[in-house]
Amino acid sequence: QPRVFSGIQPSGGLTLGNYLGALKRFADMQNEGNFETIYCMVDLHAITVWQDPADLKRKTRELCAGFIASGVDPEKSILFNQSQVPEHAQLAWIFNTVARMGWMNRMTQFKDKAGKNRENASLGLFAYPSLMAADILIYHATHVPVGEDQKQHLELTRDIAAKFNHDYGVDFFPMTEPVIEGAATRVMSLRDGSKKMSKSDPSDMSRINLTDDADAIAAKLRKARTDPDALPSEVDGLAERPEARNLVNIYAAFADMTVEQVLADVGGKQFSEFKPMLAELAVAQLSPISAEMSRLMQDQEEIDKILRRGAERAREITEPILAKTYDIVGLVR
Ligand code: ATP
Ligand code: MG
Repeated sequence: QPRVFSGIQPSGGLTLGNYLGALKRFADMQNEGNFETIYCMVDLHAITVWQDPADLKRKTRELCAGFIASGVDPEKSILFNQSQVPEHAQLAWIFNTVARMGWMNRMTQFKDKAGKNRENASLGLFAYPSLMAADILIYHATHVPVGEDQKQHLELTRDIAAKFNHDYGVDFFPMTEPVIEGAATRVMSLRDGSKKMSKSDPSDMSRINLTDDADAIAAKLRKARTDPDALPSEVDGLAERPEARNLVNIYAAFADMTVEQVLADVGGKQFSEFKPMLAELAVAQLSPISAEMSRLMQDQEEIDKILRRGAERAREITEPILAKTYDIVGLVR
């Protein structure tokens, strides 16, 4: 059976980008029933940049609530946090010996996150894609739903799998397919149409958080940067208008429409008219999720139990795959 793996970092509160680009699709793939689905809170990735320890625990539990509130069912899917399944980090070490420095040097996420002072970035941030390859391949996952920004890391995952198979003369790790689909695979910052929306962006006005209330969502969209022109009636008219394109994409993803269909409806409208329509749609879809998140957050013990149970189920898959990997590599057990 095809197997889906994907993860989200507990590095901040969930954004609209995480919801449309990842969580909503995680729930869809779970419900389609064609896949075994495995979803992870990747806490070991989050600490590649500084996280306050008490905050990290809170954000991990809140993220778990976010998964469930978005429709990921811990009975149907395996839902857990990465650090409770040690085989992820163990396989990552093996992959650190397979991946090449030159491959990592080309990763744009590292360049973006390390910023100007690269010498001062953590070694973990540099090796991030190797741990991500391990997250996926420790399950022999065949499909990975992600946003557009993770495409390069998934290509690297395939490179690592291919080099491992080649170096050891085996056909052990599969070539994983990225699944980057829908109208909102790259939701952009509301303040800057050239930057993706991120939970770790210092500006709260740049993003819509799943926990924002109706007033905050309306205010952020009202202030979202746009150009002064009316909306076009055809997709071509969005070229060179990244902010307009972004808001139309978000609308399309919420309404389950294509961009063409949205423009057929709203072409010719001014942003002053379109933005409140978008706000109404966003509030209608996000407020039940945020209400469910706060309800789930009341019972921290229940969340911890779900994570422990998910980790046990995950380890039934990861232990034999790590054992086989160690054997292939020649590690005596
Ligand atoms: P950080 O800023 O800490 O990296 P993030 O918002 O990028 O946080 P991640 O945990 O890195 O979130 O990514 C989780 C998933 O959400 C990934 O599949 C990623 O591709 C997707 N994703 C993140 N941001 C966006 C976005 N703006 N649009 C669509 N998908 C996104
Ligand atoms: Mg990210």
